[in-house]
Amino acid sequence: MKMLIGEKWVDKDEKIDVCNPYNDELIDTVPAGDVADVEAAFQAAEEGFEINRRLPVHQRISILYKTAEILKSRQEDFAKTIASEGSKTIKEARKEASRCIDTIMISAEEARRIVGETIPFDSREGSENRLGYYYRFPIGIIVAITPFNDPLNLVAHKVGPAIAGGNSVVLKPATVTPLSALKLGEAFIEAGLPWKILNIVTGKASKIGDALVTDPRGRMISFTGGTEAGLDITKKAGLKKIGMELGSNSPVIVMDDADLAQAAELSVSGAFWAVGQNCIGVQRIYIHEAVYDEFEKMFVAHTKKIKVGYQLDEDTDMGPMITEEEAARVEEWVKEACGSGAELLTGGQREGTHFEPTVFRNMPDAAKLNCEEVFGPVVNLYKVSSLDEAIKLSNSVRYGLHGAIFTRSLENAFKAIKELDVGGVMVNDSTDYRIDMMPFGGVKWSGLGREGIKFALQEMTEPKLVCFNL
Ligand code: NAP
Repeated sequence: MKMLIGEKWVDKDEKIDVCNPYNDELIDTVPAGDVADVEAAFQAAEEGFEINRRLPVHQRISILYKTAEILKSRQEDFAKTIASEGSKTIKEARKEASRCIDTIMISAEEARRIVGETIPFDSREGSENRLGYYYRFPIGIIVAITPFNDPLNLVAHKVGPAIAGGNSVVLKPATVTPLSALKLGEAFIEAGLPWKILNIVTGKASKIGDALVTDPRGRMISFTGGTEAGLDITKKAGLKKIGMELGSNSPVIVMDDADLAQAAELSVSGAFWAVGQNCIGVQRIYIHEAVYDEFEKMFVAHTKKIKVGYQLDEDTDMGPMITEEEAARVEEWVKEACGSGAELLTGGQREGTHFEPTVFRNMPDAAKLNCEEVFGPVVNLYKVSSLDEAIKLSNSVRYGLHGAIFTRSLENAFKAIKELDVGGVMVNDSTDYRIDMMPFGGVKWSGLGREGIKFALQEMTEPKLVCFNL
């Protein structure tokens, strides 16, 4: 496929191979974008901003609805692209494709609701003759940088609200999974989005990352990815808005009054969805001692039923990890944990990009698998004697995206809601529950700001005050 810059689809002699992580089969190539392409994209986006800020909102709305229709008509093709270039199984990819349609539809709906309010100027003595209001205006060029694990819907979460709000976009998708983003770009152009509003540069962060994040023409960086990259970008970005959707190692608490069957089933799904390469994937489960043994038995039994294999086979439950390098990293962390006293209950083996669904107990506090984000199919079970202990341990890491509690007690639920240091609390659900209109984001090292279209729109627009002296 080609990159989208200005008014054309751009090719280059130097290419990047896009391969299926299951068997390394070449699916397609994309141009290896460089700094000159980033410059061209910014120049186009400056013009694109002038076009989009002047488009009446009803036109933006119809373009977004039309894009959603096109996505719907190609839903299966999108699902196959997601599952071929990435790690998701075809079943998981279908869900992502359908959620992307939601994201674009909600962007169209929210475009109608970018509203301001009147200001009671006469609340201050001497201002009795003033009358005014504020409305929200677009901020300019949004630099969107996206990860590999949701290669379509996380792109839509940036592009949808950016366009709805009247901005223009320079997008850099993850180098290993650029095809879903480019196909989304095709759908937007086909739906009538004027050229130059959306620009997509494919290329490695090591080559074009700095040019993207340091350019003062970018008025906001909307980044989703790892905490390390997020920190690097934050240091280099300069004076502009920053949205950071970063990693986590989400905690789940299972109390002695929980529906254990429900807790085990949902937590297994939450731990191994997308091979655990999920920012809200379950990584640490704190189980009340009264039900620990029963829960562990159920959890391990469910885990052993997961069918690992080719992600495009209908009956595969878990595909390969995104690269062999990533799978080898997880293997190293597993070895470190085994060497420091953690007990392996099932899994632990790697073959190429495949990593078995892996469950540990007695994970030491200092092990990377406890305190860092594994972003792979590994989950830890811990025995606790009280909710207070579970909450304390849940909060003991530097991340805080989602947390969850399984309990039948309102008192327990509200205590967890109040005390878990996270951006979202799920009660009787896995941490990876998400729909696209909810505010989504983390605290501590899990990020800054919120996505979820309405919330992204707030970040991507600014209030402009108007005051009449009558
Ligand atoms: P990543 O390595 O941080 O890369 C994410 C994107 O940033 C890619 O497009 C990458 O380009 C680019 N990038 C990396 N370093 C950069 C730099 N210094 N300057 C500019 N761009 C840079 O993350 P990933 O492995 O793709 O995704 C996994 C991570 O994303 C996990 O930590 C996960 O938790 C997080 N995530 C968070 C959320 C959320 O909403 N909170 C959602 C999904 C994923 P290249 O591909 O060219 O390296």
